[in-house]
Amino acid sequence: MEKLRKRPALASVSVDPSDGGGWCECEKCRALGSISDRVAILANEVAAAVGAESPGKLVGLYAYNHHSPAPSVRIAPNVVVSVATAFLHGDQTVEEIMDGWGRQGAVLGVREYYAVNTWDRDQPAQSRGANLAYLSRTIPGFHARGARFMSAESSDNWGPNGLGYYIASRLLWDVRQAQRVPELVDDFLARAFGPARSRCGSSTRSSMGPVRTSVSTTGRPHVPRAGPGEGACRPCRRRAGAPG
Ligand SMILES: [Zn+2]
Repeated sequence: MEKLRKRPALASVSVDPSDGGGWCECEKCRALGSISDRVAILANEVAAAVGAESPGKLVGLYAYNHHSPAPSVRIAPNVVVSVATAFLHGDQTVEEIMDGWGRQGAVLGVREYYAVNTWDRDQPAQSRGANLAYLSRTIPGFHARGARFMSAESSDNWGPNGLGYYIASRLLWDVRQAQRVPELVDDFLARAFGPARSRCGSSTRSSMGPVRTSVSTTGRPHVPRAGPGEGACRPCRRRAGAPG
């Protein structure tokens, strides 16, 4: 409440829990319900206070990690729940989690991962932000499922991802632009590179191949690396015979 009083231009305040788990397991806390229930109960309390003092302001949280499954309680109408597209708990898909929170009345958003340096190291065609097919499919798909907010973890890597970030911004403005992606790409290349367009176009196009980043059933991305040495991810180490 104090934050909104000090900064009246803020559209929302976050009540998302600190990352990394560590939830209290005392009898009283367990009686509140699942981790998602506890998060939702707090969000609703804050939302009631915010609604009373600052009508129109929103309360935000993620559906992520320990609190990714939908809660068993209804969600106040001024709470926006942004569903993470990785690091989800349980075996539900992103879409199932969105539907679950939506059924409890949450205003839906999506919390994406367009580029994470430790996953893609700013290499071309290694991140979701560079994958035009992924962007063209998911942004309209999330919108059709009810999502009205989006944030995406991204890097300051406009060389490999500038085109994808541009296309994402066009789709977020109007999802129908997904029908025009080839045309938007041509326009981007013409304006960005002018006479050098054919050379840059071919290099940009070659970066539009299928991304090698895969997402496991737990939603944890697996980015293949060169070898089993230090820094190799667990699946790579395992494949190389090293202990996981
Ligand atoms: Zn406790």
